[in-house]
Amino acid sequence: MYVYGKFGNSKVINYASRYNAKNSLTIVRGLFWVTLIEVLGHKVIMGKIAVTDGMANDAVSLLQSEGHEVVLKHYDEEELRTGALSDFDAVVIRSATKMTRGAIESSCIGGRLGFIGRAGVGVDNIDIEAATANGVVVCNTPGASTKSVVELTIGHLIASTRFIARADRTLRSGEWAKKQLRGSELGGKRLGLIGFGRIARGVAELACGFGMEVNAFDPYISVDQAAELDCLMHEDVDELFRACTHISVHCNLSKDTHHLVNRERMAMMPHIGSDGTACGNHIVNCARGGIVDESAVLDALESGVLSSAALDVFEVEPAIGNPLLEHERFHGSPHIGAATLEAQTRVGSEMVNLLVDFFNGESPKSALN
Ligand code: NAD
Repeated sequence: MYVYGKFGNSKVINYASRYNAKNSLTIVRGLFWVTLIEVLGHKVIMGKIAVTDGMANDAVSLLQSEGHEVVLKHYDEEELRTGALSDFDAVVIRSATKMTRGAIESSCIGGRLGFIGRAGVGVDNIDIEAATANGVVVCNTPGASTKSVVELTIGHLIASTRFIARADRTLRSGEWAKKQLRGSELGGKRLGLIGFGRIARGVAELACGFGMEVNAFDPYISVDQAAELDCLMHEDVDELFRACTHISVHCNLSKDTHHLVNRERMAMMPHIGSDGTACGNHIVNCARGGIVDESAVLDALESGVLSSAALDVFEVEPAIGNPLLEHERFHGSPHIGAATLEAQTRVGSEMVNLLVDFFNGESPKSALN
């Protein structure tokens, strides 16, 4: 990490030390400089921060008022690979900026990048291994958008089973399609959650309120933890698909979860709800594109294996021209899970705290390496 101090009027780059990401320890040289700066009454001074995918205005203003230079600019992959960030101490990204090995190395070798902040949860767009190898700390803001994604997921579940998007489209086109739009209730159906982390638990709580029976699959969560929340945990993901007419995805994207929702598993879904209603099968993904095999979803919609599919996230984003958009029982949203005033305010203020820790030479709370 680099700590900046102001001595007189000149901005002096105090080489503190690279943040030792692997051991999560700020090493002795860093402490020496931080102490020296504190003794001289210049605790943390300035850093140059790139914000490449936007951040709440209040958070940007707060950083600027603390004396940091904040540059709001998006860089494409080529610019990142050729060292566009080498002149920055920290970068704050969302999902659009890809911090690949090439981007990280070109920002560090001959540059000074020491911090990558993901304003959000998923860090699948950051090569954490490369960051660690180059002494760059990676942080995210894990809880800030949970509530917003939970509510969007419930919104997609209701929109799927009551055809809300289609009802609006037909109405606008002058059609009174009341007879064709007979849906089903969520109450009395089994909801299968893939992953049982923060967002899934929030969804489980609300789904229970609708009278759904909540099931889940998460190899990293114990059966007891799930039972506390009135949720039946399955040890085999196929069992979850066999049991549930409604599946909602809430795990991270990894090589284990890529296309976890596939043709074979969708074919296992029961069509008949646990209350005996022929409600069909429904898939919702507000987690990450790529966990659901989109071409299998399109085939399943066409063959009737699925009655609806709702995606907030896509294998390729922006999903303009995606063939799913042509199907009347598909509805989507353009990756807006965290796009609420409240979530963005929380994300911004959490990110400011992380940056303050970093520039203070402390280990940021949500450091991932
Ligand atoms: P979390 O870390 O609290 O939960 C993720 C859960 O997935 C963990 O419990 C983990 O054990 C589980 N998991 C990991 N591998 C698994 C596997 N192979 N099978 C089943 N479960 C597995 O994260 P969260 O905050 O609940 O976020 C969940 C997802 O939502 C993430 O993918 C995140 O990127 C995404 N997200 C999307 C948006 C959006 O805008 N749509 C916003 C925020 C988060």
